[in-house]
Amino acid sequence: MKDAIATVRKTREIQEKYGVYTKKSFGQNFIIEPKIVEKIADAAIQDPSDLVIEVGPGIGALTQFLCEKSDHVIAFEIDERLPRVLEQEIGFEHLELIMQDFLEADIDSIIEERRQEGQRVDFVSNLPYYITTPILFKLFEAKVHIDSITVMMQKEVGERFLAKDNEKAYNALSVISQYRCSIKKVMDVSRHVFWPKPNVDSMVLQFRFHSTYQVQDEPLFFQMVKACFVQRRKTLYNNLQAWLPDKEQVKQMLEKANIDPSIRAQQLKLEDFIRLYEENYETIR
Ligand code: SAM
Repeated sequence: MKDAIATVRKTREIQEKYGVYTKKSFGQNFIIEPKIVEKIADAAIQDPSDLVIEVGPGIGALTQFLCEKSDHVIAFEIDERLPRVLEQEIGFEHLELIMQDFLEADIDSIIEERRQEGQRVDFVSNLPYYITTPILFKLFEAKVHIDSITVMMQKEVGERFLAKDNEKAYNALSVISQYRCSIKKVMDVSRHVFWPKPNVDSMVLQFRFHSTYQVQDEPLFFQMVKACFVQRRKTLYNNLQAWLPDKEQVKQMLEKANIDPSIRAQQLKLEDFIRLYEENYETIR
């Protein structure tokens, strides 16, 4: 491998050479610590034959390590200034660059067309923070199988994904993402390893899909979970009543699932939400 891109010196050199100064509107905070990118790549990729999908290669800090570890990395980027940098600094032997907004990409077809039989698919990204949740939900909804999702995000958002019932950060996002995936923390990352330095620290999480839970009509289940959390200070009964205006129906729903109407959504475990939904599916559908 040539010199690591993820250093202060190399990042400065590339920015000056190509005139690619960071753009806030694209959520550009480049990593300037090679140990961090190496650790992310190690956590994400198991074998050189893995098909790796990255969002936002930037000037290539993480991409360089991904291309070291995998023979085929597909990277989506929206900043038109960057292909020239990536071509010269990394080259396109292992890297396939797609210049497209990831949120608009047809990832099912793109992955399906390139994926070989039995090949693992790993998604990796130092996410553009302004679209963390939409990117993850796009992956959660993908039809094509993705083996692992290893992503850097703002620490505060990472805590929501990890939070369990009765913890401060626990909300609808925690319940919905834990319904779909098992989630583990890979590492905490200080704000000091980014250029420019953001105002917040970060965290790398790894998501793996599981099929432990399967309810009918998932969008309706997610709607119910969101409704339960609409006003955190309100009781479950009050929040559900705003969603289903029939008071008697809400009372019966809670009774059926054996849930105390005076508790708040943040006191319910994922399994409690599933029971509440399944016991009442016929009436709320
Ligand atoms: N991977 C590099 C690193 O770790 O240093 C850069 C990460 S930077 C936080 C986010 C990158 O995502 C930027 O390169 C930005 O241009 C790109 N980006 C922002 N929005 C995007 C979108 N909708 N689709 C694809 N790439 C996007």
